[in-house]
Amino acid sequence: MERAIQLAIESVRSRQGGPFGAVIVKDGGILAEGVNQVTGTNDPTAHAEVLAIRQACRTLGLFELKRCELYTSCEPCPMCLGAIYWTRLSRVYYASFAADASKVGFDDSFIYREIAQPKTQREIPMIQIIWSVFSRSRLDVGSIPKSSSVKSTLSSGESLRILRQSITTTATGWRRRNGANLR
Ligand SMILES: [Zn+2]
Repeated sequence: MERAIQLAIESVRSRQGGPFGAVIVKDGGILAEGVNQVTGTNDPTAHAEVLAIRQACRTLGLFELKRCELYTSCEPCPMCLGAIYWTRLSRVYYASFAADASKVGFDDSFIYREIAQPKTQREIPMIQIIWSVFSRSRLDVGSIPKSSSVKSTLSSGESLRILRQSITTTATGWRRRNGANLR
């Protein structure tokens, strides 16, 4: 944790991003480090936790970090929390509360509130589109037509059913090849 906080302080000094640092530990040793680089790289996803996760995965050559632990200078935001779950980290230690970050202008509480809202009532509305423009022969993942001018011979419900079936088939194949769970 000391190293994560040190990284957060260094981040402020380097002016590459916000005051956030993260460290991933495996078998008692530091596997990867991350420092917030949002402003320095114009990358809103360059949070310390995400960068540490990317580095750790590269180092191990894996897309999951089971039996690894994350130390972060601040309670993770919803994006990083999602990344933590996707990588199956075994534990997260944090120093300051998200509320502390909010007080100094890094407020992510509105995202947590948004998640709890009905999809269509969020600040950025999330609207499902039924892919009725696809004909049965074109509807397979990987060959989605660029033009929406294709007239459908299927009902919306049937198009959606075939789309879901196609995604399930693709996901099953992916799982078989990678020996992993895909939600
Ligand atoms: Zn984050």
